[in-house]
Amino acid sequence: IYVKPPKEYPIIGETMKIAKSTIDLDCALSQGDIIIKNLVLSVDPYMRGRMRDPSIESYAPAFEFNSVMTGDTMSVVIKSNNPKFKQGDLVYGKTGLGYFEEYSHVKGAYADIGYVVRNDPKTTGLPLTYYVGVLGMPGLTAYVGLQKYGKPKKGETLYVSAASGAVGQIVGQIGKALGLHVVGSAGSDEKVAYLKELGFDGAFNYKTQSIDEKLKELCPKGIDIYYESVGGEMLEHVLNHANNFGRIVVCGMISQYNTSNPYPIRNIIYVLTKRLTMSGFIVMDKENIAYEEEFMRTCTQWLLEGKIKYRETVAEGIENTPQALLDVLKGKNFGKQVVKIADL
Ligand code: NDP
Repeated sequence: IYVKPPKEYPIIGETMKIAKSTIDLDCALSQGDIIIKNLVLSVDPYMRGRMRDPSIESYAPAFEFNSVMTGDTMSVVIKSNNPKFKQGDLVYGKTGLGYFEEYSHVKGAYADIGYVVRNDPKTTGLPLTYYVGVLGMPGLTAYVGLQKYGKPKKGETLYVSAASGAVGQIVGQIGKALGLHVVGSAGSDEKVAYLKELGFDGAFNYKTQSIDEKLKELCPKGIDIYYESVGGEMLEHVLNHANNFGRIVVCGMISQYNTSNPYPIRNIIYVLTKRLTMSGFIVMDKENIAYEEEFMRTCTQWLLEGKIKYRETVAEGIENTPQALLDVLKGKNFGKQVVKIADL
């Protein structure tokens, strides 16, 4: 349950909490209704942005006070009075719409908008958790963000921040497949070792090493594309090392989500003098979600052929969901953070 907006980091028990309620699994369903058992919940950084005063506009609607939180989910239909869903179907609760509870009685109109049958795991054999991660919203974000907004050309240098995370690890691997010189940063030595395993040409720990020196050393020809997930001080450093006509793909700015004291970028003038393109984008925008089918087909193939590696942190039990979300916001996750709340 979402309770109220946090000032900085969310506080468990104060801004979000676990609540008990009952649901009648034997009730007669109205036309269009379904009952689902939720299996996997995806906790993602954008959820922090939904914890705001509802009068503030943003791309994703504010959570409603004292209501069940929602996000990407994978569930199984246990009862249906809706022709689109049958018992035993796996369903994907679309970004921002899947209920974060153990069982959900989903009203017909909401089921039609918020849920879609996704039985793919039954044929691919890939874990259910992948369908809210590498094959879900974060994977699509990496796929569209790098190619459409980064406009990569073979031989260019790509720098990825939050590179071991859900989005970053895929961005880097696609970058390598496109023939780019790929450099990434992450917040621990274990994460940096993983980036090297993935084939990144260079990787460093931005918490213990000098960002400026490492960018100079690992990107000797400068940065052509910066896949931005962090913002703040990191962006300031990158602007110093960006090449003329470089592209900054503004995917996220997580360092700024939980602070009441935003970092002032002092060298923003480089956007002008270096003729940089900064492209903010939201994966859920119509023109980006349009790539979903192509992306899922392509990425499933990559995974089955072992062309792409993927790491996730799986928390167990719905009671650990608030902590899992907090972990993502504090960088304690390693790879995509998900919560497994039930077996199929
Ligand atoms: P991740 O799996 O990468 O988890 C977030 C990571 O961010 C943490 O593990 C941590 O990694 C890093 N981080 C956290 N706090 C800070 C901080 N203060 N400074 C620097 N790094 C920090 O999450 P996702 O891959 O799901 O998301 C990555 C980014 O992409 C986010 O900014 C998110 O908002 C954005 N996004 C945007 C979308 C869009 O449509 N534009 C869609 C999906 C995601 P580390 O240990 O390396 O610091």
